[in-house]
Amino acid sequence: MSIEQNGKVAIVTGASRGIGASIAQRLGQDGFTVIVNYAGSLKSAEDVVARIEAAGGRAITAQADVSDAAAVARMFESAEAAFGGVDVLVNNAGIMKLASIADSDDALFDSQIAINLKGTFNTLREAGKRLRDGGRIVNFSTTVVGLRLETYGVYVATKAAVEAMTAVMSKELRGRSITVNAVAPGPTTTALFLDGKSPELIERMSKMNPLERLGTPEDIACAVAFLTGPDGGWINGQVLRANGGMI
Ligand code: NDP
Repeated sequence: MSIEQNGKVAIVTGASRGIGASIAQRLGQDGFTVIVNYAGSLKSAEDVVARIEAAGGRAITAQADVSDAAAVARMFESAEAAFGGVDVLVNNAGIMKLASIADSDDALFDSQIAINLKGTFNTLREAGKRLRDGGRIVNFSTTVVGLRLETYGVYVATKAAVEAMTAVMSKELRGRSITVNAVAPGPTTTALFLDGKSPELIERMSKMNPLERLGTPEDIACAVAFLTGPDGGWINGQVLRANGGMI
C-alpha cells in the first residue's frame, strides 16, 4: 500500500506523542513527507514513523530540543539535505506547568519561556529563511489565552506571545505565498492535559464546551490538516480555536 505523495515536506515538532503524533500521522496520510521531531522519546518517535510507513506514507525521525537554536538549524539543514527543502512547519512542541503567579518559581517560568516561546521563535526564524514559497506554518496556542484561568499565568503568557508572533510573521512573509496561522486547542486527551488532574476536574473541564467532551489529538490534527492542505490556503494570520465551542 502506498499513499500518493504531494511532493511537500513537513516538519512537525513534538511529534513523538500526543497531538503532534496525530498531526504527523495525518500529514503522512495527506501525502506529506513528515519529519517527526522529538526531544527525548526516540522509541515513541520511531513508532510514529513506523505507523506512517505502515499506512503507505513517508517519514523520518529528527531529534532536536526546540529550545536549542543550533539543534533546530541542524534539523532544517538535514531535512533539506534529505528531501530538497521544507514546505510546512507545525510548531506543536510545548510544555505546561501550572501554578499561581505567586507560587511560580524561576524554573517554571524559564522552562516554559525556553520551550514554548524561544522554541517557537527558533523554528520560525529558520522557517522564515528556508521555507519554500507556497508553504504553511501552523503555531500552537491554547484556548486558555481566551479563558485566562487561574494557575495558567506563565503558560498562557508564552502562548499569547506565540499568537502575536503568528500575526506579525504572516505579514513579514508577504510575496512568498506562505500562510502563518495558529491553532488554539481546548482540553485534549494527552499527557499534557491529563497528568496530575483528578477525575472530577477532568470531568468538569470536559463539560465546559457545549459538545460536552474532551478534544482528541485527531480533532486537532484535522484543524492542522485544513490549514496545511489545499482548502486552507486563504486563511492567514489567524488563530483557530479548536475547542468544541468552549469560548
Ligand atoms: P504532550 O505532552 O502530550 O506531548 C508533547 C510533545 O512535545 C512530545 O512529543 C515531546 O517530545 C515534545 N517536546 C516537549 N519538549 C520539547 C522540546 N524541548 N523540543 C522538542 N520537542 C519537545 O503535549 P500535547 O500533545 O498535549 O501538546 C501539544 C501542543 O498543544 C503544545 O504546544 C500544547 O501547549 C498545546 N496544547 C495542548 C492542549 C491539551 O489539552 N493537550 C490544550 C491546548 C494547547 P518528547 O516525547 O521527546 O519529550
